[in-house]
Formats: sequence, C-alpha cells, structure tokens
Amino acid sequence: MSTSLGEFDLIARYFTRPPVRAALGVGDDCALLDVPAGQQLAVSTDMLVEGRHFLPGADPRDLGHKALAVNLSDLAAMGAEPLAFTLALALPKADAAWLGAFSAGLLALADTHGIELVGGDTTKGPLNLCLTVMGLVPPPSALRRDAAREGDSIWVSGTPGDARLALGSIRGEWHLAAKDFDRVRARLDRPSPRVALGLALRGIARAAIDVSDGLLGDLGHVLHASRVGAHIAVDDVPASPALRAQPVERRRMCQLAGGDDYELLFTAPAQQREAVLAAAQAAHTPVACIGQITAAHGLALHDAQGRVVAAHYAAFDHFRSP
Ligand code: ADP
Ligand code: MG
Repeated sequence: MSTSLGEFDLIARYFTRPPVRAALGVGDDCALLDVPAGQQLAVSTDMLVEGRHFLPGADPRDLGHKALAVNLSDLAAMGAEPLAFTLALALPKADAAWLGAFSAGLLALADTHGIELVGGDTTKGPLNLCLTVMGLVPPPSALRRDAAREGDSIWVSGTPGDARLALGSIRGEWHLAAKDFDRVRARLDRPSPRVALGLALRGIARAAIDVSDGLLGDLGHVLHASRVGAHIAVDDVPASPALRAQPVERRRMCQLAGGDDYELLFTAPAQQREAVLAAAQAAHTPVACIGQITAAHGLALHDAQGRVVAAHYAAFDHFRSP
C-alpha cells in the first residue's frame, strides 16, 4: 500500500494478536489449525461490499462487528462452535482512525465468541470486506438445510423484520418514531449472531438456516433442499414493539421478506417442543413456533383468523432486486 502506514505495519498493528487455540496465526504463508478427532470443520465465507451491504461512510466499529456477525451467523445456523477466521480487506486508504475503530469492533465480537483471527489479505481498492469463518461440529449434529421432515415444527428466533424496518426508515420509505428507530437501527448495524442457540439446538433441531435474505426466502432454501413444503401462521411470527406499531402490510413485508436480521430459522420434530424451549432458555434467546413442515410442496400462509395470506413476499436476490 502506497500510504504512510504500510501494509505490514497495518497488519501488525490492527490485525495481529498472539494465537490462542491456533497452532500458528497471522504472519506465515498459512495459519495452522488443529481439528480434534470426531469433529468436522465447518467453513463459510461472506463478503460485504460498500454501497451494496452497507452505506458509504458507515461507522467503522459497527462495520467490524457486522462483518464478523454475519459470518458467525452461518456457523450458528450449522450448529458449529466458532474456531477461527480470516479477513480479506480492500481499503481505499490506510486511515489509522478508521482501522482502529474497525478492528476494535471486529475483535471485540471475536472475543465474545472465542473465535480468533488467523490470517487474511490486505490490498488497496474500493472498500470490501471478505471474511471466512471456521467452526467445529461433530458430524451427526450439523444442522443442515436438507434435514427438514414432514410434521416438523418450524421455529424462528428473535423478532425478524427489525433490520428491514430500520433500513426503510434510513432510505426514506417511511418514518419511525425516534425511540423505535434507535431500537431497530441497532439490530441493523449490530446484529447478534445466534451462536449459543445453534449450539444448544444440536441433537434437537433437524434443519436450520440463518435469516439473511428474508424469512420466507430462506425458508424456501430449506424446503427446496429437504423436498418438502410448509404452512406458516404469519401472525405467530414475533414482532418487536416497533414492528407492532406499523401498518399490517408493512409489518408483514418486513417480517417475512426483510433481510439482514441474522435470526435462526429451524425445524424440529413436534415432540421436541419442550427440548427446543429449554435450549432457547439456556441460550438466552427467545424462539417462537411459526408453522409446520408439510409433505405437499409449496408454501401456505395463514393469518390468525385462518385467512389465506398471499405469498408475494419475495426474498432478496442480488441479481434481481434493485
Ligand atoms: P502472502 O504473501 O502470503 O499473500 P501477505 O503478505 O498478504 O501474505 O500477509 C502476511 C501475513 O499477514 C499472512 O500471514 C496473512 O495471513 C496475514 N494477513 C494479511 N492481511 C491480513 C488481515 N487483514 N488480517 C489478518 N491477517 C492478515
Ligand atoms: Mg497477501
């Protein structure tokens, strides 16, 4: 990098810490990680592009948090325990204040979840963050998308839709009361990956996915992979106070099609109901049952009065949506 803070100074100052569990961390051509016998390595990559996944000028501390949070969410959805991650970073300039805040946000969340930064790549270019996370999971307990079965209950954590509600307000699609905006904005900027819940659901849940692109769209991936259908009671999807204050159409659109929540959507056999509730309590994460898996393919939506709700809540697709 042709700035006063050189590439290697930058890596040393902001992204290098002594290894904890890694056999070898930042500084060599590769990091070295031990995978304990009886465990599989779960690996996932997520990229965040300025102007696409976050607004230009986004707070760097929040950005560091969110870049890791969205990746941890994938480990959570697999029931994997966070182990290590790499960071590929393109930066327009080596700005010490920006880097300090970004690495503080990133590494604080890393410490919360016991995941360590073991390597990466740093280059000059339009702001772009690409993280790869690695976790451990004993093979039979991984929560795969293809594992849902007819009769399973469908559950979701938290209050999906909050992030979309905040985004709409920032974009000027609607206006929120200041108190509501502050609450949902935190959910958009600093999502909480449901790692503890994913771990607690090992051996209890069957299929799981994290809600990154919208509840119905992400559920669609589970249904497709598992070759089943679903019935969803849309009024059973939990709504935060800010969402409850919205007109019903907007609330449903945010809850069912809004992305960026990073809640877990999972299925479990109906007789595991008590076990699911106990796991959620142990993980300090609220969950709600919102429907059932059906043998008939397709998605049926009903409201609390039993009326059919049109399934027009499309999921987000980077190559289709504006
Ligand atoms: P290479 O020549 O193999 O590409 P680099 O010179 O790019 O290696 O990086 C030197 C070391 O710093 C490597 O161990 C690499 O993993 C690590 N590294 C580079 N960028 C980052 C980053 N943003 N965060 C953490 N580690 C990084
Ligand atoms: Mg390199």
